[in-house]
Amino acid sequence: MQNDTGLLAKIVEHTPIIIIITNNDGTFRYVNEYGEQHLGTQRSNLIDKSFEDYLSQIEGNLSWNQIMDVLHSGDYCQTKMILSSVQGEEYICNFNAFCILDDHHPVALTFMLIDVTEEADKADQIEKKNIEMARINSELIRSNAELKKLSKLKSSFLSIASHELKTPLTSIKGYSDIIMDSMKDRLDSGVLRMVENINRAAERLHRVVNDILDVNRIEQKRLRLQVESMNLESVARDCIDELDSVSANRNIEVRLNVDEATPRFFGDKIRMHQVFANLLNNAVKFSPDNTAIELKIMPYEYEQIQIVVKDQGIGIDKADQKKIFDPFYEIANTNRHSTHTSRFMGGGTGLGLSIVKGIIEAHGGRIWVESAGVQEGVFNGSEFHIILPVKAQVTVEDDETDEIDLSEGDELGEVSDEVSPEQKPVVLFIDSDREAVEVARMVLENVFDVVVAENGELGLSMAFSHRPSLILLDSDLPGMNGYRVCSLLRSQYETRNTPIAFFSAAAKDEEIQRCFASGADDFIVKPFSGKELVEKIWRILMKKKEDATFR
Ligand code: ADP
Repeated sequence: MQNDTGLLAKIVEHTPIIIIITNNDGTFRYVNEYGEQHLGTQRSNLIDKSFEDYLSQIEGNLSWNQIMDVLHSGDYCQTKMILSSVQGEEYICNFNAFCILDDHHPVALTFMLIDVTEEADKADQIEKKNIEMARINSELIRSNAELKKLSKLKSSFLSIASHELKTPLTSIKGYSDIIMDSMKDRLDSGVLRMVENINRAAERLHRVVNDILDVNRIEQKRLRLQVESMNLESVARDCIDELDSVSANRNIEVRLNVDEATPRFFGDKIRMHQVFANLLNNAVKFSPDNTAIELKIMPYEYEQIQIVVKDQGIGIDKADQKKIFDPFYEIANTNRHSTHTSRFMGGGTGLGLSIVKGIIEAHGGRIWVESAGVQEGVFNGSEFHIILPVKAQVTVEDDETDEIDLSEGDELGEVSDEVSPEQKPVVLFIDSDREAVEVARMVLENVFDVVVAENGELGLSMAFSHRPSLILLDSDLPGMNGYRVCSLLRSQYETRNTPIAFFSAAAKDEEIQRCFASGADDFIVKPFSGKELVEKIWRILMKKKEDATFR
């Protein structure tokens, strides 16, 4: 028993809890060793001093006197308080106290204080961190909204700028084509060369504008595919033929190697043409003269097709192999692609491969490049690999348009893809014959929204800005004639599928043939009856819709 008491005394003395026993009036009677450390003074100095003097703050509404009252009434008291040492150090403690009774009379008060300063500090830090996180979070939400707005603004700007550029460019290209085709013999050779330069420059700029629009579509996930059954070999061969003059000049041979077992591919023909053209152009651009390029098409596991474009050019360093697929990324030294024996045609916009990747991914495929890298005096070559599912897995919804709506207050650049149900289909007349236009307008106005352009140039511009459901085109226009307008409309991504019907007073066979050859869907002979015109227009629109469904 004696031993047990000694043991208990030892436990009380050394336990990591501040244990204080006071007289009934709150003056110190006993402080354990741990308490002595916290109060920062020797126990002997504490005896008969008031415990209250060491309490700097009690949590809640309790005062020291109230605590004493509670204890004297025989009750238990539990709260939080700050204990201060002689040196001014403060400890946050969980405070527990009770009264020791002897024969129902209070003889002493016992206080047990557990130091929770560290936990409180941690809780305080967590609270502070939480507040900081909430602040960072709201900042992130704000900057995210700002970035989204900026991205929309950029996309709208690109779209507007590109369309604004496209219209005059189409005219520059169209007129210089006409001059080169029909006035060649009448022009001095110097002037002809200048016109040819203008034509080439317009074509180059046109390609850049189209590339910017494509990158924008890809970034906005609005690249629309027109999936149809197609022969990849013939698309590849077309591209090689187009490349011929450039590659022949530099004695670069392009070898096409198609495995007979390659299945037919279901994808977008025009977009796949763009893929081959970009990869082959790059292969030529970054290869020295007198080398070969190989284009292989073969079946791949799990109903997929593999395409490889392999060149014997300068190669691509490992560090650049992913980055070259980012928009506007060009390896720094592209303009210095030359050796003492070969001179390459460096330079570009850095958009081609990002478009290629966007097109391949829109088909549900993937692309990567393999190369041993760039080495002075050695041509390691590059191999672009594409894997495509036999049937394109199109994920993009068929709602692509670059139409811009600036009407919404300061929300500049909302891209409007929606057409209200009440909106009538737009029919664009490109005709200088005012009378015919007025007649047609009267007949069609109830069913269609009729817009009119008096010449081909204006017609092209309105075809881009109004996105009509149908274009009615006179072959005999002032300036650029109807056939030229029609083939230019067909060559543009935005209007390549818009139904176009010629209408003309002269219905000679050869003229009708010329209309169809330039890309028209139908032919309406003037003069026409109102009924005839409406019926014909609906038939053209319905046929176009069926074609799109069954494609
Ligand atoms: P660019 O219009 O500059 O050719 P791309 O996006 O097509 O833009 O290509 C990006 C960059 O990748 C090029 O500038 C070039 O540095 C590099 N590159 C692309 N194809 C090849 C290739 N076949 N061989 C070596 N480098 C290439």
